[in-house]
Amino acid sequence: MAYIQGTSGEWEMVIGLEVHAQVISNAKLFSGASTTFGAAPNAQVSFVDAAFPGMLPVINETCVEQAVRTGLGLKAQINKVSVFDRKNYFYADLPAGYQISQYTQPIVGKGEILLDLADGTTRTVGITRLHLEQDAGKSLHDQSPNETYVDLNRSGVALMEIVSEPDMRSGEEAGAYLKKLRAILRYLGTCDGNMEEGSMRCDVNLSMRRKGDDTFGTRCEIKNVNSIRFVQQAIDYEAHRQVEVLESGGVIVQETRLWDTGKGITRSMRSKEDAHDYRYFPDPDLLPLVLDDAMIERVKNTLPELPDEKKARFIQDYGLKPYDASVLVAEKTSAAFFEAVAKGRDGKLAANWVTVELFGALNKLGKTIDESPLSADALGGLIDLITDETISGRIAKDVFEEMVATGKAAKDIVEEKGLKQITDTSAIEKTIDDILAANADKVAEYKGGKEKLFGFFVGQAMKATGGKANPGMVNQLLKKKLS
Ligand code: ADP
Ligand code: MG
Repeated sequence: MAYIQGTSGEWEMVIGLEVHAQVISNAKLFSGASTTFGAAPNAQVSFVDAAFPGMLPVINETCVEQAVRTGLGLKAQINKVSVFDRKNYFYADLPAGYQISQYTQPIVGKGEILLDLADGTTRTVGITRLHLEQDAGKSLHDQSPNETYVDLNRSGVALMEIVSEPDMRSGEEAGAYLKKLRAILRYLGTCDGNMEEGSMRCDVNLSMRRKGDDTFGTRCEIKNVNSIRFVQQAIDYEAHRQVEVLESGGVIVQETRLWDTGKGITRSMRSKEDAHDYRYFPDPDLLPLVLDDAMIERVKNTLPELPDEKKARFIQDYGLKPYDASVLVAEKTSAAFFEAVAKGRDGKLAANWVTVELFGALNKLGKTIDESPLSADALGGLIDLITDETISGRIAKDVFEEMVATGKAAKDIVEEKGLKQITDTSAIEKTIDDILAANADKVAEYKGGKEKLFGFFVGQAMKATGGKANPGMVNQLLKKKLS
């Protein structure tokens, strides 16, 4: 928990997040128009999406199943009866003058998300609800100097709005929440989680209270922040702003603010609208949505192993540390890569090579695991050479670098460069004898009690063999000779 030091004491952040996640589905929520990203403006608009008079919405079952699937993935209550309401407001890119959404009776109720924090601990954040709603169109302000264009391709695309309880207490926790939610959505295949393209958007609700208080303060909402890093920056800025206002005797007014990426500040956008401003009422064109048990059961049976369960299994089966396991399961593809490397090998060693060396190399190259220059088999081949003591862990790092650069197999690199570990006792003994003879003064010092010279002798032996002597044997033989 991160507290903010003010001039009059410490303050605590209270954070709740609302996430809009675009449902993966070929067609829109209430029409058959396509949802493909990047089409020419207004190429994917049905009469329903353009709100032509007399057009009737028809629910897309796939979107309903995706919402149920997500609800199950969030260990949430699935409401067998839910209702679609009209949320009324005027906007140029909302031709109907209302958005079809869900208000008092959403399709998914209370659930939870487990956050994996950097110190290896976890923390549960409550999910308040998940509801289905239509997205609006887009106003394009940058096409002409004095006109605004409207693109309705997005109009009517299905969104899941996922609302959290005000359970988070720091920017780090908000980041961990978004990462975990995104991972779950991707595992489930219900949203691609791409914040840059806008298929996952986040509204941040934040209030401050004095450390130790148990009531909440008044919150501000920061709309549509489009990356996890920006969410954390916006929280940090907004928390300090609120503390300043409160400490100088002011009050926080509930309002909607914007995150200005360029300036790194939040700005007031409008005073917060209340639910009654929207005149919600049940959409008379749509019957209540009733789910049958068989459908819920069918969806349940197709759920994949989710990140938390995978993490628990990695800890159990491979003996991994919780933090390493959570890093590996963050993406389905990294988890699969790791399992392919670990198969039939030491799990901890495999985890170490994947999370430290491979992820480090990918990071440097700016590549994802899907673009890895090394296959799981190739990395496994390198690990095998360490395990059977053909090379030392030290030399393996050089071989790894060479593999990344050239794509050659570990075995071939070791062969070509003559990197095989020296495990021949007499050869190592001979090297050690030479070193001890050449450093008689140091041997005397060592025997006189200067024990840290041991490291010097090890270093000399490794140097003399080009790093190829088996370090364990060097240690053992040196001890024997110096005793
Ligand atoms: P609205 O539709 O008005 O934005 P919701 O109840 O749907 O309201 O969502 C409000 C969000 O704000 C939730 O994520 C909730 O956890 C969060 N929240 C509510 N009260 C506070 C508070 N005092 N401080 C911070 N966050 C809050
Ligand atoms: Mg809101």
